[in-house]
Amino acid sequence: MPNFDVDLFVIGAGSGGVRAARVAADYGARVMTAEEFRVGGTCVIRGCVPKKLLVYASRFADEFADAAGFGWTVPTPKFDWPTLIANKDREIARLEAAYTATLERYKVELIKSRAVLEDRHTVRLLASGARVRAETILIATGAAPYPGSTIAGLEYVISSNEAFHLPQLPKRVLIQGGGYIAVEFAGIFNGLGSEVTLVYRGENILRGFDDDVRAHVRGEMERRGITIVTRQTVAAVEKMGREYCVALSDNRKIVVDTVMFATGRHPNVAGLGLENAGVTIADNGGIAVDAFSKTSVANIYAVGDVTNRVNLTPVAIREGQAFADTVYGGIPTPVDHANVPTAVFSEPEVGTVGLTETQARAQLAKVDIYKTSFRPMQATLSGRDTRVLMKLIVDGSSGRLAGCHIVGADAGEMIQLVGVAVKMGATKADFDATMAVHPTAAEELVTLREPTASYHRAAE
Ligand SMILES: Cc1cc2nc3c(=O)[nH]c(=O)nc-3n(C[C@H](O)[C@H](O)[C@H](O)COP(=O)(O)OP(=O)(O)OC[C@H]3O[C@@H](n4cnc5c(N)ncnc54)[C@H](O)[C@@H]3O)c2cc1C
Repeated sequence: MPNFDVDLFVIGAGSGGVRAARVAADYGARVMTAEEFRVGGTCVIRGCVPKKLLVYASRFADEFADAAGFGWTVPTPKFDWPTLIANKDREIARLEAAYTATLERYKVELIKSRAVLEDRHTVRLLASGARVRAETILIATGAAPYPGSTIAGLEYVISSNEAFHLPQLPKRVLIQGGGYIAVEFAGIFNGLGSEVTLVYRGENILRGFDDDVRAHVRGEMERRGITIVTRQTVAAVEKMGREYCVALSDNRKIVVDTVMFATGRHPNVAGLGLENAGVTIADNGGIAVDAFSKTSVANIYAVGDVTNRVNLTPVAIREGQAFADTVYGGIPTPVDHANVPTAVFSEPEVGTVGLTETQARAQLAKVDIYKTSFRPMQATLSGRDTRVLMKLIVDGSSGRLAGCHIVGADAGEMIQLVGVAVKMGATKADFDATMAVHPTAAEELVTLREPTASYHRAAE
């Protein structure tokens, strides 16, 4: 019987790792975790949380402008980036301390070091060179920004990591990317007063989202003054004093103060020693796992972004919890990745759950679409030129809600609750039977009477 120093070694103290370590320890396991950067991981330190704080900051611009229509006289507002960043950093430090305290309370031993695998039971801590023998190992190392192919001047380009620590607000910023991080940062910089150009190689931003959502968000962003250039890529970045000249693939040149790439993220698998332990990588570039997050090696598990399944914090947390329940709680718990509700904190916000129209029409025999676009009530007095989009995708055979897509203020808050209904298998009739809350934007979700389109797939 081999002797182990700990029952569980968790590599990475982010969303998934912290949850798994804490719950496993609560079940009685002796747990050690290594973190090479800061406790809390991407979400807390340089992801969801600081991002949302910046989003809040950026939205005051609209509030100040809209106040006039409601009778307010607002003196010319002034914004100070260093104040925002300092306040944000203080909050992140508080959260990091809270996560660390939680680990201590549950007697999880925290080592501030990079950790790599030497074999299927041995972890080496690079800070001290010490080796730790663990019965079970959980890899929760997350993902990192991926800049895409190498171009001239890539060294001048920042990622979202650095965007949180810019010394000052750039007057002009060019962001390459069309995913949620690119779109969110475009909204943040635009709201704070920067001139923003978004460059995306595809046909339209937010690939993978419902096409109506993509078109609606793009229109709204352009109306707010963001320049969106699609079907182009950044070919080179040249430094010219304090500015950067960005050459696009069509030879267009754009001069800006900051160039940011948000061109995707890669699972943190490199240099981890996976080959020493026999852990295999899946086709998606993440660690290959089964429904219980077990890797190709029986005593090694992986959760969160490093598995490249659904790269969201609540999913990493759920996977970490399920791992601990399965291995230490005696409750085998697979994670259900279907119908994960999610938000894009763009301006305006997106909330989405379930199938897009394109997916539904490919997967279902009958599809009914209920769609509306309307001017939100607040815009009547503010005079703001903006519209809300709401779209329900209904499985025409069962009447079940297959998807819901919202673009507008508080879409993220709304979709959380629609997500419950979708998970419960709610039908369009259930929505119809629900009394509206008036006057709200969300009431439109229960008052959509006639389908705007219906599709029947011809029998094959
Ligand atoms: C800008 C941005 C905004 C985001 N916004 C949202 C959002 O609004 N909502 C949402 O749900 N998700 C959001 N995400 C995604 C979310 O942050 C991730 O899905 C989540 O953090 C994944 O958790 P994880 O535990 O897999 O990895 P992480 O939280 O990334 O934790 C991994 C940890 O492992 C450490 N580590 C890596 N390798 C080693 C090693 N060898 N040894 C020791 N430590 C190591 C890292 O330093 C890190 O702390 C955002 C991400 C970004 C970048």
